[in-house]
Amino acid sequence: MPTVIYPSPIFGPVESRRLGISLGINLMPRDGKVCTFDCLYCECGLNKDFVAHTPRPTRKDVQKALEQKLREMHMAGTAPTVLTFAGNGEPTTHPEFLGIIGDAMILRDRYCPQAKIAVLSNATLTVRPNVRAALMKVDYNILKLDTVDADYIKLVNRPAFPYDVKNVVKELKAFNGHCIVQTMFLKGTYEGHSLDNTGEAYVGPWLNALKQIKPQAVQVYTIARETAVEGLEKVSAEELDRIVALLKDNGIEAEAFY
Ligand code: SF4
Repeated sequence: MPTVIYPSPIFGPVESRRLGISLGINLMPRDGKVCTFDCLYCECGLNKDFVAHTPRPTRKDVQKALEQKLREMHMAGTAPTVLTFAGNGEPTTHPEFLGIIGDAMILRDRYCPQAKIAVLSNATLTVRPNVRAALMKVDYNILKLDTVDADYIKLVNRPAFPYDVKNVVKELKAFNGHCIVQTMFLKGTYEGHSLDNTGEAYVGPWLNALKQIKPQAVQVYTIARETAVEGLEKVSAEELDRIVALLKDNGIEAEAFY
């Protein structure tokens, strides 16, 4: 299926549904994907179909490219509203992630002090002290939790290594509110299995986990681009709104992106 592999280390700026004018920072190779998940809905395709043959950008590469782009934007009188670590996979897998976040903060303060720094992460590596320290520094620490159902995670997120969602919930809770949880809602089928995570059997336990995590906000969304496999379907705006209302009734700040 048509999917997107982003330039590296900088892409955009792009208009983001969730973040505004976003300058993307991609810490993965320019010709493939590196992720600890292999989600059926990934816009970058499946891991096996996009194996990278070039190295990741180094910390120095990222620092140089980001400075050049921010300087250009500054001179042009344009400025991003957010610098977003995302792209072809999981940004926290970069071995120099902590140092790169520090560099980005220095450059943000120099060229666009009003901009926020966001990281879109699948939360699989928050157990690493350096990753946690980096995520504590950013403005928007956006962490994926599509469900707490282990079978659904195996079917849809497809972790590339042993993954215990109970531990992940504990890790998210340990951010003490310094996190935004991001949840993808889907319908459709894959290999004969339903992908619908909008029913009470999924939403109830997920809500209970969120009550423990106490995130600063929850972002619920559905597919808006090409996905890695066929058979996935969008969830309606009404259903996302119903889930947002449920979160708000439980005292959790929430927003839907259609
Ligand atoms: S976590 Fe994100 S980048 Fe990784 S496979 Fe899932 S959607 Fe793709």
